[in-house]
Amino acid sequence: MSQQQCACPKCDCSVDSQAIEKNGQKFCSESCAIGHEDGSTGCGHNCNCGK
Ligand SMILES: [Zn+2]
Ligand SMILES: [Zn+2]
Ligand SMILES: [Zn+2]
Repeated sequence: MSQQQCACPKCDCSVDSQAIEKNGQKFCSESCAIGHEDGSTGCGHNCNCGK
């Protein structure tokens, strides 16, 4: 089993079985999955990947 990283460009979070998959890519959160179009600055894991 290999660890995967969130597909959000600035996000360093790892994704697990709970990953949200979109367009063949895996994201750690819904915010990342939608490219932070909701205006969120992070993914809920203490990172500012949405800024
Ligand atoms: Zn993150
Ligand atoms: Zn993420
Ligand atoms: Zn993100």
